[in-house]
Amino acid sequence: MVRRYPCVEVDLKKVTHNARKIMTLCNKNDIDVVGVTKVFCAELPVVQAVLNSGINMIGDSRILNLKKMEGLNCKKMLLRIPMKDQAYEVVKYSDISLNSELNVIGELSRVAKMLNTVHNIILMVDVGDLREGVLIKDVIDIVKEIIKFENIRLVGLGTNVTCYGGVIPDENNLGKLVKLRDKVMEIFDIDLPIISGGNSSSLYMAAGGTVPKGINQLRIGEGIVLGRETSFGHKISGCYSDAFVLKSEIIEIKDKPTVPVGKIGVDAFGEKPRFKDKGIRKRAIAAVGRQDIKLDGLSPLNKNIDIFGASSDHLILDITESEKPLKVGDVIVFNMDYGCILAAMTSPYVNKYYSA
Ligand SMILES: *Cc1c(COP(=O)(O)O)cnc(C)c1O
Repeated sequence: MVRRYPCVEVDLKKVTHNARKIMTLCNKNDIDVVGVTKVFCAELPVVQAVLNSGINMIGDSRILNLKKMEGLNCKKMLLRIPMKDQAYEVVKYSDISLNSELNVIGELSRVAKMLNTVHNIILMVDVGDLREGVLIKDVIDIVKEIIKFENIRLVGLGTNVTCYGGVIPDENNLGKLVKLRDKVMEIFDIDLPIISGGNSSSLYMAAGGTVPKGINQLRIGEGIVLGRETSFGHKISGCYSDAFVLKSEIIEIKDKPTVPVGKIGVDAFGEKPRFKDKGIRKRAIAAVGRQDIKLDGLSPLNKNIDIFGASSDHLILDITESEKPLKVGDVIVFNMDYGCILAAMTSPYVNKYYSA
């Protein structure tokens, strides 16, 4: 098949395989999986590959992505706390949203009433990571107010860890969430069917069977895309780590020194570059750059190729040790980490191809 470079190639079978593995693992622990689609910009072929695993709820942080998935037959969750002026879109395009601010929830209720519907929310609780969520001590007070809104149904509590503070989910912090849910149910005599216990960083607990009883939902992005949990970066057994690869074409090959000639100032990104003198090396330029990728998240499949660096549009490679002789026009294949996939999928300069 004809390819235009640079491109990301997504192996959809591997995506479905990973999603199914993770769903099976979670279901064994009485946990449902929300398939998180933001890292691949909710590109529909990939979303469909996730749904093919049997996962039936999709989560995304962007309204634009939820809108793109409007026609899909699955439940949709908005992951990022909504902006107040998004209330209409939130109610229209999501079945459930994660929230932490009373006045925004009030606005959601107002819009839901106007649309003659009831909007489901999960109240986010901060158990220590210091990203979103109400502090544990404030939960009872805010729930007291939330349940007054006519067109809002509070369906559960949720938390997010390992995103800002790097806090690892464990029996202690997730256990607190379960206790809190029990307390809220008792005080207000309401049912809270969902306890959403975090993201791919909670998968190690599912694998070890240590998720506190009561946690019944995880929101999983990286686990599906890269086949790993994110607390310790361990591979999830039986999952693929290469469902997404980047391919880029060589546009120049020259033998050059490794230390630039002239006085060294700062590079295009305001950083003062450092160079280790390795003598004359065979250097290749691949036509992809920092506008499209995250440099330190890129690793060539050919282990004998090293990355020297990149500017906005040029990726400079050391191909001296490559056993396979390379020429201009050849294509280099890379594995990517989460941040690099996010950048590449978001860049309009990177073509996307899906293999069924
Ligand atoms: C992105 C996101 C997730 C998914 O995180 P992964 O580490 O990719 O599994 C889950 N929950 C929220 C609120 C998010 O923003």
